[in-house]
Amino acid sequence: MPNVLIAGAGHGGLVAAILLAKQGYTVKLYEKRKREALGYDWHDAVPRRLFENAGLPEPPEGMFLPADRMAYYSPAKQIKLYPDVEPTFCMIDRKELMAYLLSLAEESGVQLLFEREILSAVVDGGRVTGLRVRSGDDTQIVNGDLVVDAAGMDSPVRRSLPARFGIDRELRGGDIFYTWRGYFDKTADEFSDPPYIVYFFHNGVPGMDWMITGEDFMDVLVGGFGGLSKAQVEASLNDFHKEYPYMGDRLLRGGHFARIPLRGHAPVFVADGYAAVGDSAFMTEPLSGSGIGLSMSAGKRLADAVLEAQGDTSVETLWRYNRDRIRKGAECGYFDLLLKNFLSALKPADVDFFFEKHIMTAKEMGERGGYSLPEILEKANILKKPGLMPALSSTAARIAMLGRVKSALPEEYDRKSVAAWKTLYHKVFR
Ligand SMILES: Cc1cc2nc3c(=O)[nH]c(=O)nc-3n(C[C@H](O)[C@H](O)[C@H](O)COP(=O)(O)OP(=O)(O)OC[C@H]3O[C@@H](n4cnc5c(N)ncnc54)[C@H](O)[C@@H]3O)c2cc1C
Repeated sequence: MPNVLIAGAGHGGLVAAILLAKQGYTVKLYEKRKREALGYDWHDAVPRRLFENAGLPEPPEGMFLPADRMAYYSPAKQIKLYPDVEPTFCMIDRKELMAYLLSLAEESGVQLLFEREILSAVVDGGRVTGLRVRSGDDTQIVNGDLVVDAAGMDSPVRRSLPARFGIDRELRGGDIFYTWRGYFDKTADEFSDPPYIVYFFHNGVPGMDWMITGEDFMDVLVGGFGGLSKAQVEASLNDFHKEYPYMGDRLLRGGHFARIPLRGHAPVFVADGYAAVGDSAFMTEPLSGSGIGLSMSAGKRLADAVLEAQGDTSVETLWRYNRDRIRKGAECGYFDLLLKNFLSALKPADVDFFFEKHIMTAKEMGERGGYSLPEILEKANILKKPGLMPALSSTAARIAMLGRVKSALPEEYDRKSVAAWKTLYHKVFR
């Protein structure tokens, strides 16, 4: 049975660890932080079928909380859109989720090693053979037949891979969503309608903020596409204080900066003896930045691919996992990705125009599948706003190439055809 090393306690890595350990594989997980420090100190939106999709037992009763009704606010705060959101999403406390996954991993026999910092991958003869790990003043090399990279968007494992593996090692600035998030107290028993409001280009800053009024807290996210300064966070908080006089000053949870990869999956995220999962392979939804559900179902697909191949961890086996996740992306993320590229070219006044002229309506802002980018583009084209034409035509050209990206995805791994397909993928999405 192969030895599996999991780099970082990312969600997808934990799922793969649990499923492989259950089948008798020796699995060791190296995590740089202390156990109790894992998981963000807030609630996140996840699919209701999170555990079922990951092949894991359902969590204890009460872990899922209902998602709040929501609306999108135009930058000038003149128009609110109420998307038709089906109840397929719910909220989960990230710390509770992490504690549950860690307990399942322990029950399955995964060896959890905390306060072990991974420095890099160990590569030998074109194959990833292990990890360089630091514990206190000690650095050692640990060997394995498969390294599952679940160390997040800044993974030192991915970054240390040789260029010839063809794996994108870095994110571009425009592919990152910069956030600050914190829960404040409430000074009166008041609620907004709806409780969850998303603000586009809040205070004119390219980005997206939200305010969720809970029973006894105000959950604030401030987000910028090109970066986020303390001053921008202050400005957003000041505006929220004005708009919600019952928002207190006392910080209850969170209260720190964090980043999210806001782009489509990396086109290639496997090599001989190596597979990335979750944020380390940029597996988030390109518009919302949600990555927990995608990461956990990817962890299951990865474990399935290894088990189906009876422990073979060659790039040919792991490519089946890579290929299937990209196909999944084709179902759910391609339009989001193109829409993201389009939106990033807009100014606040353009977004207001889209709201005012009913180009962006509650339908387009609805749950995944509600977007109909060609329709949006057609409507915008009819109205002929000259300033939007370059972004419109570039997006239309990319849409025309989408079919080729889907059909050219190699079924089996072959270095040359994968490299050619990757070039095409980048042409459409970069
Ligand atoms: C403000 C905010 C809100 C979000 N809201 C949502 C939401 O509502 N829904 C949703 O689905 N997603 C949400 N996300 C995105 C989500 O956090 C990620 O997509 C998700 O965590 C998947 O990432 P991951 O598990 O692959 O990696 P991570 O969660 O980043 O975990 C990586 C792990 O690797 C460890 N690690 C890193 N480097 C090393 C090293 N050198 N050595 C050892 N260990 C290391 C880290 O300590 C960490 O434990 C949000 C993110 C933010 C910042």
